[in-house]
Amino acid sequence: MKNRIELSQEDITKMKVDAIVNAANRSLLGGGGVDGAIHRAAGPGLLEECRTLNGCNTGDAKITKGYNLPARFVIHTVGPVWYGGNRNEPALLASCYRKSLEVAVKNGCKTIAFPNISTGVYRFPKELATEIAIREVKNFLKDDKTIETVYFVCFDSENYRLYLKNIKQFIK
Ligand code: ADP
Repeated sequence: MKNRIELSQEDITKMKVDAIVNAANRSLLGGGGVDGAIHRAAGPGLLEECRTLNGCNTGDAKITKGYNLPARFVIHTVGPVWYGGNRNEPALLASCYRKSLEVAVKNGCKTIAFPNISTGVYRFPKELATEIAIREVKNFLKDDKTIETVYFVCFDSENYRLYLKNIKQFIK
């Protein structure tokens, strides 16, 4: 059987999947990093739809269409800013992965690509973020029959190296 978790190092805006996940901020009105790249590649229709969503809480996820992206949908999730670890940051990051997968399933998505949520300007420690991401996705897939493949899309080499290091955990 095909692996349900795949790892790659590329630009998430290029991925032909049912849904790509955006590491957004609570306004959902665009920003830097992966958020900016997704809005640039999707075109102005994405921002227009985002304006109707009234933002999103940290740890939650909302879906829009993909507009000019190869992906059919964008799932916008808001990762926690890292303040040292005593503000529920790990649980909030775990919630981003879970909620995004729930929204994907509700919308019939079979393939979904995640960036390394919160590990850019939000400063979440990369190693811990990697462990949380893998654990949450694996737990979700255990009880799910809809999702065929989850892609972890690393952009920077450090994240890619950390995911590779944890690759053993991908093997069922
Ligand atoms: P956050 O505010 O959640 O930290 P960032 O966009 O600053 O979000 O960073 C999240 C991750 O997205 C970082 O690991 C960064 O390297 C990565 N990233 C930036 N641009 C892209 C892109 N085009 N495709 C995939 N990942 C990207």
